[in-house]
Amino acid sequence: MPVRSREIRLKSRPKGTPTPENFELAETELGEPGAGEVQVRNLWMSVDPYMRGRMIDRPSYVPPFQLGEPLQGGAVGVVEKSNAENFAPGDLVQSMLGWREAFNLPAKGVQKLDPHGLPPELFLGVAGMPGMTAWVGLLKVGKLMEGETVFVSAGAGAVGSVVVQIAKLWGCTVVASAGGADKLAYLREIGADQVIDYRAEADLAAALARAAPKGVDLYFDNVGGDHLQAALGALRPFGRAAICGMISQYNDAAPVPGPTNLALVIGKRLRVEGFIVSDHVGDTPAFVQQMAGWISSGEVKWRATVDHGIEAAPNAFMKLFSGENIGKMLVKLS
Ligand code: NDP
Repeated sequence: MPVRSREIRLKSRPKGTPTPENFELAETELGEPGAGEVQVRNLWMSVDPYMRGRMIDRPSYVPPFQLGEPLQGGAVGVVEKSNAENFAPGDLVQSMLGWREAFNLPAKGVQKLDPHGLPPELFLGVAGMPGMTAWVGLLKVGKLMEGETVFVSAGAGAVGSVVVQIAKLWGCTVVASAGGADKLAYLREIGADQVIDYRAEADLAAALARAAPKGVDLYFDNVGGDHLQAALGALRPFGRAAICGMISQYNDAAPVPGPTNLALVIGKRLRVEGFIVSDHVGDTPAFVQQMAGWISSGEVKWRATVDHGIEAAPNAFMKLFSGENIGKMLVKLS
């Protein structure tokens, strides 16, 4: 019996902020999995800001999405049929074939998931790529030291909320920015010492100077633009900036000027370093082991904003840009 699967395809490339018209819902039929293949039904899929970059037709560290094709992204699913050694129905697997309900794939394209006793969807968030981004960015790129002052933008999101909590585990003073009262309340709940509602501040640099009067040792950038400019102003001599993302610019239709105070990098001898988490894939087992321990002991808390059904995925993705998610934005599929 053929299996029906609905999927979201890229209908047109967004110009500026994505709209529902850029996506289309389609239905396909899956045959039986071939030799060496598994048939997987997705339980959860992730929407992530980097997917916006893949909607643009340009060379990058990941290839662009193709028009008329289903989108791709992190997903957790369950094996329903297997013609592959070492995989059996009921196995939990991770793949990059989100944005669809089910798929057939050679087994080497999926990874068996050991949930470490945690809900499997955490491996798309705090115990998965976004959590590891925080861990790599703070510890390997930022070279976080005990007792420092850390500033993180988009602090209430998937990556930022883990940055806050790891920095607190290192005994740091944490300043975090986000948009709106609910996010500030969440930031305080997970341990941020000072919080900034950037939407309510006419002068972000002044707000940061009030929040960190002695300056910042390490800035974890998720936003770019005015946040990066304010952070460059607040960084102490020999400070560091781990440049993780610049979501404030992902929907810009034309190039925007860089920070006007970039020359501070010289006088303050700053180290400003961009990074991509997938370059650190070899550290995944060490990360998962440490993070699973922190989650189990309650030292790291997690939160997700969950939408339901494949048809909700485009809107869930767009929420990342209107800031409607607290913690990890996820879509529950079945
Ligand atoms: P989040 O869960 O943080 O969601 C995105 C958040 O960004 C929104 O909730 C919103 O929060 C904030 N935001 C959106 N637009 C703006 C804007 N114009 N100005 C300020 N804030 C804005 O997403 P992730 O945690 O998944 O990703 C965070 C960042 O990390 C992104 O820049 C992403 O690209 C980057 N990233 C980089 C990786 C790497 O390997 N380098 C890997 C993974 C993520 P608010 O309401 O506070 O505005």
